Amino acid sequence: MEIRLGDVVSMRKQHPCGSFEWRVVRLGADIGIRCLKCNRRVLIPRSTFERRIKAFISRGEPAPALRPPSSPAAEAPGSDEA
Ligand SMILES: [Zn+2]
Repeated sequence: MEIRLGDVVSMRKQHPCGSFEWRVVRLGADIGIRCLKCNRRVLIPRSTFERRIKAFISRGEPAPALRPPSSPAAEAPGSDEA
């Protein structure tokens, strides 16, 4: 499963505040998620996170390193060093 920074997910278990929706705020061995209702931030292992997801509500941006280098417009203009 691909998890992106900024993903908003619906979880199977309800947070004590009553919300099911979380935003991914940190990626790593542990996934950092923030409750959209009470703003509490928690870290949980990726495997646990993947099991608890019910649905993606919206997707974040793909990691820049994973983008294919297919845009020549990204080259910096004016590199005219002699
Ligand atoms: Zn909450």
